[in-house]
Amino acid sequence: MGELVERLVALEERLTRVEEGKAPPGDGRSSAKLVPRPPHRCIGCGLPLRKQAGRCRWCGRPL
Ligand SMILES: [Zn+2]
Repeated sequence: MGELVERLVALEERLTRVEEGKAPPGDGRSSAKLVPRPPHRCIGCGLPLRKQAGRCRWCGRPL
């Protein structure tokens, strides 16, 4: 019976992690890798960042 309880506890722990969206402990792939990074955007015009001579290509804001 003890084994069954252990498995149940492990299952519950895993479920909690899944619900929280975390990677299992000891997993080499860090959870940060799974978080999609927002694309860099210009603060001035909000368009995807395209640098040209240190300035935003779209609105000319220095970066
Ligand atoms: Zn811009």
